[in-house]
Amino acid sequence: MAQAKSIFSKIIDNDIPTEKIYEDDLAIVIKDIQPQAPTHILIIPKEPIARLVDATEDHAALLGHLLLLAGKVTKMLGIDDAFRLVINNGEAAGQTVFHLHLHILANKSFAETGLGKEFS
Ligand code: AMP
Repeated sequence: MAQAKSIFSKIIDNDIPTEKIYEDDLAIVIKDIQPQAPTHILIIPKEPIARLVDATEDHAALLGHLLLLAGKVTKMLGIDDAFRLVINNGEAAGQTVFHLHLHILANKSFAETGLGKEFS
């Protein structure tokens, strides 16, 4: 049986409206609907890879593209001096949408959230 479409696939296919910040052949960038920072955007590959660990060597160029897009979009938005890039992999790590995506969080103070504190 075919896998049900993820919410992000529905957004990519324009089944669900969203505020798109950027789109190219391989990915879209949208605003997170429940922002955890004043700027919270998601970089989503059009190919529905469930989790980062499900990516294979065949996805190497795509994964590189997503990282380069993080640089490009943060420059576009003027937040390239300070942002945090997060990928939640697996339910226990907080992943709720099983379609790979990168969170970009910016315009907040990260001083009190050093790496590790969020996971303790
Ligand atoms: P994660 O918990 O890492 O899987 O992240 C999923 C993210 O998708 C959460 O931050 C949600 O707020 C966000 N999200 C869920 N549905 C939508 C939607 N329709 N439009 C934008 N962001 C969404």
